[in-house]
Amino acid sequence: MAVRLYALTCGWLTAPRALFVEGAVGSLRVPVPVFVIDHPRGLVLFDSGLHRQLQDDPAARLGATAALFTTHFDPGDDVAARLAAAGFDIGGVRWLVNSHLHFDHAGGNVAVANATVVVQRREWQAAHDDASIAANGYVPADFDTGQPRLEVDGEHDLFGDGRVVCLPTYGHTPGHQSLLVRLDSGDTVLAADACYLRETLDELKLPSFAHDAGAMLSSLQRLRALAAVGTRIVYGHDPEAWTLMPQAPQAIG
Ligand SMILES: [Zn+2]
Repeated sequence: MAVRLYALTCGWLTAPRALFVEGAVGSLRVPVPVFVIDHPRGLVLFDSGLHRQLQDDPAARLGATAALFTTHFDPGDDVAARLAAAGFDIGGVRWLVNSHLHFDHAGGNVAVANATVVVQRREWQAAHDDASIAANGYVPADFDTGQPRLEVDGEHDLFGDGRVVCLPTYGHTPGHQSLLVRLDSGDTVLAADACYLRETLDELKLPSFAHDAGAMLSSLQRLRALAAVGTRIVYGHDPEAWTLMPQAPQAIG
């Protein structure tokens, strides 16, 4: 049976462009992506988008971080609503893979109640260390949601068949990971915040925020090497690439 990949747009954020490309001016409106991977042995979600409280009161949820973003997040945009509209049962999600634990990637975790959360061990540890919580802007309420957890170290093949593989892409945060999905149409890597935009990869333009810029550059080089052998790279927050992406219920591939 085939593995299918679907894209869900779970809101948008507007922020200073410099947050995405160091030194850039103006602002940028970016999508908040969530992905569904339908594997014969279970449904996988890659990231969960924003917490529903951001529809009403972002400042109460995010504190000072809220001042950096304008949130475009309406009823129907949250992960539960988007999944239902695409014909998926959120209660049937087996694995919830978090690229990392920032508010726009793990905010919807609470809604994915029956899944096992898959996260890099070092990301989980960083998100439960007081100094690191402050430095990296984590919101523990997003991910301290009680599901069973699989903490992995580096590469992890989710089903043991090479079709859905966590790839360590550290740097944006201490334990960021991307997800390789081996589709019949070819390999696709969901880069998430290891690579915000096309220009991040093409021109190695780092954002103004990176936990470890050197590690992030190494991760970008790894993504470049994959792209060079024909792997499709899906950027984490590229508005132009995103608008060309088929949306669920239509599959990406
Ligand atoms: Zn992030």
